[in-house]
Amino acid sequence: MQDRLTSPPPATDLGLDWRHGFERLGTAFHTPLAPMPLRDPYWVAHSEGMARELGLANEGWRAQDALQAFAGNRVLAGSRPLASVYSGHQFGVWAGQLGDGRAHLLGEVRTPAGDWLELQLKGSGLTPYSRMGDGRAVLRSSIREFLASEAMHALGVPTTRALCITGSDQPVRRETVETAAVVTRVAPSFIRFGHFEHFNANGQVDELRRLSDYVIDRFYPDCRAASNPVAALLAAVTRRTAELMADWQAVGFMHGVMNTDNMSILGLTIDYGPFQFMDGFDPAHICNHSDHSGRYAYHRQPQIGYWNLFALAQALMPLIDDQQAALDALEPYKTLFAAALDQRMAAKLGLPQASDASRALVREVLELMAQERTDWTIFWRRLSHHVGGAPADTVHELFVDRAAIARWLLQYQELIAQYDRALAADLMLKTNPAIVLRNHMAEEVIARAKLKDFQPIQDLLALLETPFDEQPAHPRWADWTGFPPDWASHIQISCSS
Ligand code: AMP
Ligand code: MG
Repeated sequence: MQDRLTSPPPATDLGLDWRHGFERLGTAFHTPLAPMPLRDPYWVAHSEGMARELGLANEGWRAQDALQAFAGNRVLAGSRPLASVYSGHQFGVWAGQLGDGRAHLLGEVRTPAGDWLELQLKGSGLTPYSRMGDGRAVLRSSIREFLASEAMHALGVPTTRALCITGSDQPVRRETVETAAVVTRVAPSFIRFGHFEHFNANGQVDELRRLSDYVIDRFYPDCRAASNPVAALLAAVTRRTAELMADWQAVGFMHGVMNTDNMSILGLTIDYGPFQFMDGFDPAHICNHSDHSGRYAYHRQPQIGYWNLFALAQALMPLIDDQQAALDALEPYKTLFAAALDQRMAAKLGLPQASDASRALVREVLELMAQERTDWTIFWRRLSHHVGGAPADTVHELFVDRAAIARWLLQYQELIAQYDRALAADLMLKTNPAIVLRNHMAEEVIARAKLKDFQPIQDLLALLETPFDEQPAHPRWADWTGFPPDWASHIQISCSS
């Protein structure tokens, strides 16, 4: 490792404007460290949408020396790679020190819009925080993270983003031997609840304060004016987390590993591992094969969001210094979450806001869907088309108990009749996606990628980038917007990535 520090490889200049706010927090927060070289890298995937937001619009960023930089073989001019330290609770148990065990933060770059976004390589080699890991990420999980990040962004769900994937034939041992890949991730910050837990657990109150000042000044400047700025920060993170949990529930997204080290202080979806979009609606569905107790089952995720906020509150106590203020910051979570979910479910029904009537309709239809395991995405999309004029049969046929859904649909029609039907249909078609990244779709493009055919990733990305548009010209459109094949329910997604 020392070699890589003393004799850096030549730099690749993409003309980016850099700054290094996180690095300036000081040596207690990170270890400066170059990525580990990736043997004979090749391009696997790229997001032109993300590139444009970063001001990388011309083809230059996909040239040979950029490939080497995004694979970790060359330094990006202006970047200052480091691995950060954090801790966390894993599956409800204090895990002690963790950290970027296979990620390198490169610094922040200024976008043409004037924002600053951090670039981070994931899968880029060993760091002092790798513990028993090999510092690598496999192609399979890198493709899943890349596609999911861009898909969630397009669905309007706060998330870290992804710029590109580089791959290599370098073997990586998991349950079987796979190959290595590096994802370039993008976010305003990758700071996690676990960063705060780390300094609190070690009694490093000065560092804890420096971290919270940094986060407040950068991302929550309104909190500065509050009588207790750190309590105000906790309240703001509570709000964003409640919103995020409502977003996940409404779109049917499940994060398989909601540990506190995988919770973003900005309320972003972060660290895509064993995630899943709901197929047939099962509120108790567990998407992570390694989650034996179902701690992170779909219907538990909102409560777990609160559990994680409580852990954050404990970490912030030395700064808040007032137990009541901390409790007051957390207390609105349940109400905020319920209101946010109400709003999103009302929109799924085409209504401008929730009412007692809409809440009752949602409750009833979710009960029926849970009994019948009705496909989440297909149901809401068909209902949208029905409000737009498609026959009721297209909805009825999703259920075995036709009488029950017909009764529900009549009540729903009574409610929707009080509104402009065209407006309702329009809202629904912009709220209920035609396509989400189901496991079997990811598996399909991963299988092709393992044969070095990467075009299907780009083709799928194009669909996921506009999830509310009908795109029947794509050869897989009918299959990918239809019911998942039987084999999809046997796909086992574990923590192994
Ligand atoms: P996760 O739950 O996958 O987000 O990871 C938990 C912790 O394990 C984090 O500190 C990761 O950096 C670390 N980690 C996961 N996989 C690896 C790996 N292959 N090599 C080194 N560290 C890893
Ligand atoms: Mg993680």
